[in-house]
Amino acid sequence: MYEILIQLVDIGLVAFLLYRLLLLVRGTRAWRILIGVFAFLIVLFVADRLELHTLHWILDKATILGPVALVILFLPELRQAIEGFGKISPLGILELGAHEDHLQAKTIEEIVSAISELQEESVGALIVIEKAAKLDEIASNGVMLNAEVSGSLLGSIFYGENPLHDGAVIIRGDRVVAAACRLPLSDSTHLDTHVHMRHRAAVGISEATDVVVVVVSEERGTISVAQEGALMRLGSSNELRELLNRELRQMPASTPHVRKGRRAAKDLQELEAVKAPAEVKD
Ligand code: ATP
Ligand code: MG
Repeated sequence: MYEILIQLVDIGLVAFLLYRLLLLVRGTRAWRILIGVFAFLIVLFVADRLELHTLHWILDKATILGPVALVILFLPELRQAIEGFGKISPLGILELGAHEDHLQAKTIEEIVSAISELQEESVGALIVIEKAAKLDEIASNGVMLNAEVSGSLLGSIFYGENPLHDGAVIIRGDRVVAAACRLPLSDSTHLDTHVHMRHRAAVGISEATDVVVVVVSEERGTISVAQEGALMRLGSSNELRELLNRELRQMPASTPHVRKGRRAAKDLQELEAVKAPAEVKD
């Protein structure tokens, strides 16, 4: 009886660890690496079964380097995981790990009102809203705020006189985690030549993680959104409201028949984004 109990605890702890690991990597660069590793193992298995000796030999040799390569590739995530162990509280274990941070409708309204004000005055802005990914590493290179999202806070951050205006704001759920954060720049060659650092940074973080990035261009006074490495210019702040509601709250922002027309426009835009990935046209 005692042994069975120990085994159950053992299995429970392993399941919990795997669950935490998957939550940690879901929607991030690490997720794609895991899928790559999985695909590699399938090819290795198939090569063995079909007796493709040379291919199997090469892949088999490559697996020797596997653990070292994985440690190098996962270094940031490993660091985050080990730091995370230090922060686990008994309550956190009871909650069975991370919970999703959902945005309230009010938070989206605050973001939209700040963005439309910044756009009207052509003040450059860069806001990263987390979905599945947690950007603790990037937030820590900026200035930690941990403040409730409000239109006036977001608006005032990006005004030129504010020391925090340079860089990106990171939003998690209904909180502004940090401001003045440095994001990784995209090195995509598909970007238009007059897409510079702010927009490249938006595309860069959206290539690497599962986020929605909103950018206001200082030069052109436009609103764009970057997601999964594609940059889309939006026609109005209403489009932004609808997109944020759809992406972050999974609920329609407007009446069904209005939505239909907008949905068609969005589909067209998405199609264009696929044809010419990450391109902003003036
Ligand atoms: P805009 O249309 O607003 O002029 P842009 O795409 O032309 O934007 P730049 O003019 O080069 O880009 O924007 C410069 C600003 O972008 C900087 O002042 C800074 O606030 C922001 N920025 C530049 N690099 C980064 C980065 N790596 N991470 C976050 N923000 C950045
Ligand atoms: Mg510029």
